[in-house]
Amino acid sequence: MHHRHIQPLRRAMAKALRGAAILGGALALSPAHAIQVEFDYTYDTRGFFTDLVTGAPIAERRALLDTAASFYSGFTDTLAAISPQAGDSWSVNFSHPSLAGPAVTLTNLSIPENTLRVYVGGSPSGPGVLGFAGTGNSVTATGSAEFVDAVHTRGQANATGAQATDYGIWGGTIWFNANNDWYFGTDPAGLSPGHPDFLTTATHELGHILGFGEADSWHAQIDHASNAFLGAHSVAAYGGPVPLDLYGLHWGEGVYSTYEGLSQETLMDPSTARGLRELPTVLDYAGFRDIGWQVAVVPEPAEWAMLLAGLGLVASLGRRRVGGEVAGT
Ligand SMILES: [Zn+2]
Repeated sequence: MHHRHIQPLRRAMAKALRGAAILGGALALSPAHAIQVEFDYTYDTRGFFTDLVTGAPIAERRALLDTAASFYSGFTDTLAAISPQAGDSWSVNFSHPSLAGPAVTLTNLSIPENTLRVYVGGSPSGPGVLGFAGTGNSVTATGSAEFVDAVHTRGQANATGAQATDYGIWGGTIWFNANNDWYFGTDPAGLSPGHPDFLTTATHELGHILGFGEADSWHAQIDHASNAFLGAHSVAAYGGPVPLDLYGLHWGEGVYSTYEGLSQETLMDPSTARGLRELPTVLDYAGFRDIGWQVAVVPEPAEWAMLLAGLGLVASLGRRRVGGEVAGT
């Protein structure tokens, strides 16, 4: 009976949200202090994300990187800006993201607050490797204490050392192996054996930059005798200490948790079978909470798929609003 009343309300809500979507774009999905990942293609010099003939971006692949970042859009924190003032100086050195030359050294980059800068590229390499992520071979900073702190920990308290409980980073780099016959689709229905899922690998590598296997606060919670992770959220999600890989950089191979209520191998175990899509499970997000991220809302699968479709953005925002989420501003 009251459907007639609900329908106009829904339409009005959809209209209002459409306005919000146009104003805020994809940002409208995220809370105020959501962590933003800014991908930089400066060193994509071997054609993984850029058509080398025309110079045009390969939009499909770049959009998948943004989708990968959207799985972390529920992470909120307060990361200080890195903005060198007179007397401040910093530099970061990292392997060329397309393996196209000597290591890159960047000096006095400015990085906005709550933002990570990630340099990406790809190149052909031997079989078996999907990708690699890093946060720089060396990071140095001089100047005011506040500035040095922003460079090394983004102003996060207790983010370094054996007792660290939090994490902050300038950003990082990701290299992808162009020799793989990647699946660059968004629809999991298109996955097929032998084709590694690009979205899965991109999401996994970003996870490392966000501290998984990387942060001092991650390593501080490893029990080396049993090679297990003891972070409280992870232990609660897993039902006990979580087995790790040999190097303490991932969950153990084949550690399972749940994704959307269904059993799934974790995203942050060391490997993903070609042809499978693995997205962050309950245990993966618990690991990130233990590293020090405040993990709030994470996008539902329907939302990130629709983000790419454009049209779907309004509908997905509508669902979140109806579900009681705070609309973006
Ligand atoms: Zn890994």
